[in-house]
Amino acid sequence: MANPSAEAEKPPPTEFPEPEQFDYSAFPCPRCKTTMSAEDYRPCEACIAELKATQRTEGSAGEAAAYEPKMNVTPNAVALKDD
Ligand SMILES: [Zn+2]
Repeated sequence: MANPSAEAEKPPPTEFPEPEQFDYSAFPCPRCKTTMSAEDYRPCEACIAELKATQRTEGSAGEAAAYEPKMNVTPNAVALKDD
């Protein structure tokens, strides 16, 4: 038989400690390690500009159709091995 008062005896909600405050006013760029500041954790302006220039914009069907796979993929050395 279940005790009707058991429902009132739930364990207390887990309390997590306060996350460590991250200093957004001065932190190293995750890409080039230049000390910079931002409203959130992200690469510096220079890196963002460089990334935008080197990476294709997502969401464009035309660009997706024109996508060519990178040719720097290393083939499987074992598969190519001629015994
Ligand atoms: Zn950077």
